[in-house]
Amino acid sequence: MMAQYLEIKGRYADALLFYRMGDFYEMFFDDAEAAAAALDIALTKRGQHLGRDIPMCGVPVHAAEGYLLTLIRKGFRVAIAEQMEDPAEAKKRGSKSVVARDVVRLVTPGTLTEESLLEARRHNYLAAWVEVRDAAALAWVDISTGEFRVVPCPAPRLGPELARLAPRELLVSESLAPERAELLADMGLPVTPLARAAFDSAGAERRLCALFDVATAEGFGTFDRAETAAMGAIVEYLDLTQRGKLPLLRRPVKEAPGGVVQIDAATRRNLEITQALSGGREGSLIAAIDRTVTAAGARLLERRLSAPSRDLPVIRARLESVRYLSEESRLTETLRADLRRVPDIDRALSRLALERGGPRDLAAIRAGLTGAGQIAGRLDGEVPARLAEAARDLVGFVDLVGLLSAALVDEPPLLTRDGGFIAAGHDRDLDDARELRDRGRGVIGRMQAEYAELTGIPSLKIKHNNVLGYFVETTATHAERMLSAPLNETFIHRQTTANQVRFTTVPLSEMETRILNAGNLALEIEKRLFEELRAQILQAAPLISQAARALAEIDLATAFADLARGDDWCEPQVDDSRAFAVEGGRHPVVERALRRAGESFVANDCALTTGETPAIWLLTGPNMAGKSTFLRQNALIALLAQAGSFVPAQSAHIGLVSQLFSRVGAADDLARGRSTFMVEMVETAAILNQADDRALVILDEIGRGTATYDGLSIAWATLEHLHGVNRCRALFATHYHEMTGLSAKLPGVENATVAVKEWEGEVIFLHEVRKGAADRSYGVQVARLAGLPASVVERARVVLEALEKGEREGGTRKHTLIDDLPLFSAAPVAPPRPARGPSPVEDRLRALHPDEMTPLDALRALYDLKGLL
Ligand code: ADP
Repeated sequence: MMAQYLEIKGRYADALLFYRMGDFYEMFFDDAEAAAAALDIALTKRGQHLGRDIPMCGVPVHAAEGYLLTLIRKGFRVAIAEQMEDPAEAKKRGSKSVVARDVVRLVTPGTLTEESLLEARRHNYLAAWVEVRDAAALAWVDISTGEFRVVPCPAPRLGPELARLAPRELLVSESLAPERAELLADMGLPVTPLARAAFDSAGAERRLCALFDVATAEGFGTFDRAETAAMGAIVEYLDLTQRGKLPLLRRPVKEAPGGVVQIDAATRRNLEITQALSGGREGSLIAAIDRTVTAAGARLLERRLSAPSRDLPVIRARLESVRYLSEESRLTETLRADLRRVPDIDRALSRLALERGGPRDLAAIRAGLTGAGQIAGRLDGEVPARLAEAARDLVGFVDLVGLLSAALVDEPPLLTRDGGFIAAGHDRDLDDARELRDRGRGVIGRMQAEYAELTGIPSLKIKHNNVLGYFVETTATHAERMLSAPLNETFIHRQTTANQVRFTTVPLSEMETRILNAGNLALEIEKRLFEELRAQILQAAPLISQAARALAEIDLATAFADLARGDDWCEPQVDDSRAFAVEGGRHPVVERALRRAGESFVANDCALTTGETPAIWLLTGPNMAGKSTFLRQNALIALLAQAGSFVPAQSAHIGLVSQLFSRVGAADDLARGRSTFMVEMVETAAILNQADDRALVILDEIGRGTATYDGLSIAWATLEHLHGVNRCRALFATHYHEMTGLSAKLPGVENATVAVKEWEGEVIFLHEVRKGAADRSYGVQVARLAGLPASVVERARVVLEALEKGEREGGTRKHTLIDDLPLFSAAPVAPPRPARGPSPVEDRLRALHPDEMTPLDALRALYDLKGLL
């Protein structure tokens, strides 16, 4: 057995091997040690290998899914080796013969199909990226839904594409250049290297043709070598991991790179589209607006928000559906009620295709298609084109639904194993077999009465257990009578226990055999019928999955309609102008959070176009005034509009946006080991190099990560470049008031500010965005609100006054200013000194705020402190 184990393990060196032994999957050697630690289960020993104990651990087969989930989450891959024959077969070959075993599946993060291993409302993508001499492509597939796509993807686009898809596993060639490998490692994705041959485009074409049963790859579209190779690698990997059983894949769709709004990884992060900065879904845009009621609808929402369209007719058609449904609220309510009963058709279908499905998956298809029929009926009047089109995809399943309804019981069990899922009346043979089995049970009841009478023992019973099968039982007091003539001619002794004696009879064993046979026959028939139903469903799979897509589409449209009505959103006007005019815009996530806290959000306008020139708004205002919120809400409004949703505003006119960029100055990125300022500059460079005249750019405090004059000059030059070269629409928040002068020089730049009121020395945030520049930054007041000690606030006021005075008097050098200022210790509101009094070093230390210091500042402060000694 060990020889067999080692042979199989040798073929799956990079995976844990689950080795089936009876009711357990066992692991040995290093696998056992790794799995015992990861699963927190007992590590034991079993036998010896080369004179040393073999470590072992195991998990019960019936609970394996839970353990698999943990292992996959912890980054393992698991090869599952099953027994390929009945142990009795092996015995026949000889007493030492080992049961044949082989790997039936390699479980990896990108190839999951089990309900319990998947997140219902998210896609589970497996992607492959390949670079050939002159081209590169990224292909991806969700085997749990069959979606299969490919896009040309040169290396610089890889980051943004991966950020959009967030695949669970990425396949690359093992000969990938080291700098590329480093780039991928940086993104923290599970990368699986494959042999170069897996990316061979000629082989890929063969694999694809075989999969889609066509003669040439042109049969499903035109793809270049890189695209074909990337798709081929996916098919190859599926073949490898599913051991020859291929999932149902839809024909690959090639995405045009210009078809969707380009959004890079940093922008996705900043805008918190599908994930909040904290890492979870809570606090993200998608969490705030998801009103879908089906898992497939939720997945579609995620796709739409991750890749809003740039296709005007498509956007308008989607908006038309939402408008119609938001006006027809009764219909929307009914549709949503219907949709709530629709299960996850895609995933049931994929399990059936991979031979991992059970009776409940058949029932899911039945319920889904029944719902589809109902929904189609509700949409048969005058409805917008897109809904009518979806409704057409929902019909045509009357026969299949009829068959499934007649064949299946209402609530079938999860597994085929024990039968009981085929309804009575569907199959004559099955009914007969079941009747025989049940009648047999009745006959046995009658036998008991007969035997009681025959023996004159009223307490005689016929019972059943797994060891003896059916048997006659009497109490031990009747033993003697039962064991002597004439009764011993009929009753054959089987067993004596402390209180009972047990017998069998010839008619009883005959009846038992008949019941058993009938039961087995019934089970066999059920399994055959299951296979037949499965085949019928798979035959209709392309149409069923089209219906599933149509249901998701309707779910999303009704969800958007529900949102639009409930939250008072408006229909955006989207066209191919370069307008950007939002009236009464709100931030959907911040607004929701405020509403929960019983506060209200202040709506704001934004108009980025003056006549034909796209404009840039230069936004100033104190910290905490609402600058970042305003910037992001406008980016989100554009994104939502092109995703086909209404938007949180009173009105919105948006000229198609091609690219969306968002940057925040000096985001903390220490974890990745790059200086924050460096990151900020790299990201800003990407915008200045890439933004076209249809881009929408929001820049928040660019330049903040370096010394004042450096930062100001960089922010200044960036703004000029956006205005003169990129000529795109942009919102630019800064705390460099000096920049507000630019609006006089650059015709496309306008100043705006978030208003605050000063009252008795305190700032009150109004959150109102107005034209014009902020008069000052109120930093000192804000610092006080934040709880800075009164002495520090007071001192800051003094310094500020001196600085401003210096500026007014022109050119006072900073160090003379410092000389002029009275010492901090003399500040009037300094706390009373303790007896010894704090030393200047202590004072300095107290005034330091490590959180706000750059490493360079910290070093300087250290030198200063040393100088004070
Ligand atoms: P800034 O970028 O100017 O420092 P933020 O945009 O981070 O300010 O906003 C600070 C806080 O002010 C937010 O967390 C939010 O609670 C509140 N806020 C921002 N904008 C608004 C608004 N329009 N209406 C109501 N509250 C707002």
